[in-house]
This record gives sequence, structure tokens and C-alpha cells, in this order.
Amino acid sequence: MKKIILTGDRPTGNLHIGHYVGSIQNRLKLQEAGDYEKFYLMIADTQALTDNADNVDKVKNNIIQVAIDYLSAGIDPNKVTIFIQSQVPELAEMTMYFMNLVTLSRLTRNPTVKEETKMRGFTSSIPVGFMCYPISQAADILAFDANIVPVGDDQLPMIEQTREISRAFNSTYKQNVLVLPEAVLPENETCRRLVGTDGSAKMSKSAGNCIYLKDEPDVIKQKIMNAYTDPNHIKVTDPGKVEGNVVFEYLDAFCKDEHFAKYLPEYKNLEELKVHYRRGGLGDVKIKLFLNNIMQELLAPIRERRKELEKNVDEIYKMLFENGKKASAVAAQTLQRMKDAMGINYLKFLKK
Ligand code: ATP
Ligand code: MG
Repeated sequence: MKKIILTGDRPTGNLHIGHYVGSIQNRLKLQEAGDYEKFYLMIADTQALTDNADNVDKVKNNIIQVAIDYLSAGIDPNKVTIFIQSQVPELAEMTMYFMNLVTLSRLTRNPTVKEETKMRGFTSSIPVGFMCYPISQAADILAFDANIVPVGDDQLPMIEQTREISRAFNSTYKQNVLVLPEAVLPENETCRRLVGTDGSAKMSKSAGNCIYLKDEPDVIKQKIMNAYTDPNHIKVTDPGKVEGNVVFEYLDAFCKDEHFAKYLPEYKNLEELKVHYRRGGLGDVKIKLFLNNIMQELLAPIRERRKELEKNVDEIYKMLFENGKKASAVAAQTLQRMKDAMGINYLKFLKK
């Protein structure tokens, strides 16, 4: 089967280390493997507006930020088509047709939307567009016949709903028009939903609990030194808890045995470090400084590339604009296939 990959991010802020392990690493792997027909990377500005309607500037300013984050993290624009969602108006039309295939009760059962609604304090004033974003996300994926979608696990309900919409469309209009996409998650479970520095929830741009790829060394260090650990691990000699401890979660996600040899040679691996922490006698400062070394090593080259890329912003905008036109042409073909299957081609006989 031909592999078509689509994935994306909302331009609500800069990309963070949760994105790095949750989706960017898998994107880089897929990019290097190269065994795909097309690889689309979408900056989801229309989706970002569903909970930022009054803050268009934030969305606008973050489009270029996210694009620079992609390129500095190693996404190759010659291998991956990076585009802006609102440049593909066909997606909005598709969303309208898909809305007729989803019930309100199905929408309200989506656990990620429920969690995000709570986090954004929407309670009784949920914008309809926000409630419906899983439907518009289905359009994003299905418009490009994407069968592979690399994501973090908060997106699993969206992919499930996309599959339901695809099945509903194909069965309602009795033609095999739309694909059934599969989510690709990171192998490492910690990476599927990296916790925020406050330890309370998923690291999210909208929650302000992030270490950003672009953070300067002193900011990274400060965020790590303030990260949530085990509140009962007060004295160095106290036994500590590793579960729910942000520093150990990040070590699970980022640390390799080589890091011990380089920065903490008295331990062989993470397991040994955990045993010592649980037993007592290992202080938070030591594990935080170790994590800081690992993060600095990972983020320094990304930050350096970003500084170079920032000098060529016009070129990046040009690339996004050209890619938007290409993406729109592809989506137009899928939309035509959908309309033909639905019988929305009433005036076709007039076209010669
Ligand atoms: P927002 O707060 O605006 O929703 P976000 O930080 O959740 O922003 P998104 O743009 O919604 O980021 O997510 C883009 C992609 O990154 C999705 O595939 C999502 O699953 C993944 N992702 C986001 N946050 C994390 C995280 N903390 N751990 C792992 N993957 C993540
Ligand atoms: Mg999100």
C-alpha cells in the first residue's frame, strides 16, 4: 500500500519537548526512511482559531514560529510539504459534508475535547467550532488520502473519529472514496503524552508548562530546577517516588545509557538511578543537573539552526505559500471525488 503521511500542529505557541518526543521524532524517522509517496505537515491555523477567535494575532505570529521550529528540528522541506491549513479552503467544505455524518452525542463523548474544554475553562460557553474541531481534523487527514498519522496519544480519539467518518461516508454514499488512516504513536509510552513541568497534566502550549525547543540555556535550566518532583522527598536521605516525578518522566523519555557514561558515571543506567532514588540518599539537585545536561545537549543544535533560519523568514513564507497551492490542488481532487459520490454534481452537464 502506498504510504501517505499527514501530521500537524496548532500555531498556538512554539513547539516544546513534548512535541519533540511525541511526534517530531517519529516524523524524522519516517522522513529518513523515505518509503512514502507523500508527506504533508500542516500548520493548523484554522483549528487554532477554534479556541483563539479573539486572538488572531497570536495564531498569525505563531505560524512562522512553528515553521521555524520544524526546520530547526530537522524536518527537510524537500522531503516534506509544509503548508498552512487556511490556504486549503476545500477542507472547510469537506467539514460541512462530514458534519452531517456525526451526531452531537458522539462529539460530546470525545475524551480529549472534554479535557481541553475543562482546561480552557469553557464550561457552558464552548464555541461550536471548538466542539467540531475533530470533524475538521478528519477533513485534514482524509483530504490527502493520508493513511499514516504520527501523533501523541491525546490525538487517538481524533483518529478514531476520522475512521468513523470515513466509514460513514463510504457506506452512506456507497463508494470507496475515503481512506482509513492509522495513528503512529511513539514506542516509548512516556513519550506519547509527556507531562508538563508542573506535573499536573500533559505539556501543552496552552497550559504554560513547557520547555520550548527555542528556550535559551538559562531558561531551560531554571525550568528544570523548578520542575515538580516528589513533594515528600524533603531531605536527601528520604526515600523518593519515581512515578509522577517529572524529572524521572523526562529521563525516561530522553536519557540513554551513554548519558550516564558522559555526565553521571557512578551509575550505569536509569534503572540504577531509580533504585537509589527510591531507597533514599539521592537528592533532587543531582538528578535535575543530570537532566539539564541531557536537555542542553539535545536543544543546543536546534537553537543554533533556528538562529540561522530566522535570517531567512521571507523564504520560509514563500515556501509555505507555494505548498499551500499544491495542497489545495490535491484536496480539490478529493473533494470532487466526494461530491461525485454524493451526487452533488447537479450542474456538471453544463460543463464542456
Ligand atoms: P495546544 O495547547 O494549543 O493544544 P499542544 O501543545 O497540545 O497545543 P498541539 O499542536 O495540539 O500541541 O499538538 C500537536 C501534536 O503534538 C499532536 O500530535 C499531539 O499529540 C502532540 N503532542 C502535543 N503535546 C504533547 C505532549 N505533551 N506529549 C506528546 N505529544 C504531544
Ligand atoms: Mg493540543
